[in-house]
Amino acid sequence: MATFLARLFDGKTAKAQSVSVEIEDGSLKIISDTGSLMDKWPLASLRDENAGPAVGELRLSVAADNAARLIVEDPDFIRDVNAKCPRLYKSRPLVPGWWKPYVFWGGGAIASVIFIFAVVLPVLTTQIAWILPDKLREDIGEQTKSFLIESIARKQNSTADAIICRDPEGEREISRVLQQLNVSAGDEVQDLQVTVIKSPIANAFALPGGKILIFSGLLDLADEANGFTGVLAHELGHAKFRHPMKSFILGTGVATIFSLLVGDASGGVALAAIGQMAVSSTYSRELETEADEMAILLMQSAGFDVSPMNELLQKIHANNKTETFDFALFDTHPGIEDRLALITSAGKTGGGAMSSEAWEHVKKMCR
Ligand SMILES: [Zn+2]
Repeated sequence: MATFLARLFDGKTAKAQSVSVEIEDGSLKIISDTGSLMDKWPLASLRDENAGPAVGELRLSVAADNAARLIVEDPDFIRDVNAKCPRLYKSRPLVPGWWKPYVFWGGGAIASVIFIFAVVLPVLTTQIAWILPDKLREDIGEQTKSFLIESIARKQNSTADAIICRDPEGEREISRVLQQLNVSAGDEVQDLQVTVIKSPIANAFALPGGKILIFSGLLDLADEANGFTGVLAHELGHAKFRHPMKSFILGTGVATIFSLLVGDASGGVALAAIGQMAVSSTYSRELETEADEMAILLMQSAGFDVSPMNELLQKIHANNKTETFDFALFDTHPGIEDRLALITSAGKTGGGAMSSEAWEHVKKMCR
């Protein structure tokens, strides 16, 4: 094992410490002068903080939010690191929180940072959700979907493939109803795609890129086709307003979106961000109301009666009280009374969304 001498600036004190470094198993081990292991930096995360290569030294960092720098001048080590760290000279994607050091600039800077985050960003989020290329939205939706299905499958000691309900007739019926709602009002969602998952969770979830996930627990809980269709309309409402993309941007930071835009969508940063979004995002009351209002409008315009949705909403609410989930789904907690009142005020808005035979089939499609 080759050992090289290095100087470590720990990012907290100005004085450098003499250390030695070793490359082993994909990591850079930093060893103190007393021989104890101080830290291990993954080779894949290393960056040279010098302006460019060939200055006769490496000034290594390991993470954007870690100020420590490791200075090494040994040519053999530099050659070794160059061979093993493909990203050494790539700029590091910005991470959420990258702006934090700037608040130390002073009061004026704090005020402008607050202004950016309180006033500019929420507006910007909506703009960004609409201007992002379809391809990126599609990719984010696809990755979020795989992430969710795989984590649910893992919990059930199963595989993603095994928990997807494949029933052409049931899928066709759900797609038909969704498309009828889609064209009836508001901006049409492109590439609507529905996936039904075998799971006791009684819920549904809209993802970026027009993807809607339905958990079969919802089919078990729903007595009437129109209650179920009302929940679909609610999720479609979120999709029409691009709430999933907005929440993704808010949850992961605009910086992540930029790093996705400049490539690297398959990288660890993107996947981590997507995971974070999938488990942490909840919609605000305002967005839920927006989706409910859209759901009523869609049901009405499509000629479907929305009133059975109330019964299902109450059932989901009661069900959610007894079960805890890792994911924020069709969240009935904020203002359930207001939501029920809104739907009640719409009255009877039309007829049945599915034939009774079709509904019986859909209800059983995961069994
Ligand atoms: Zn919702």
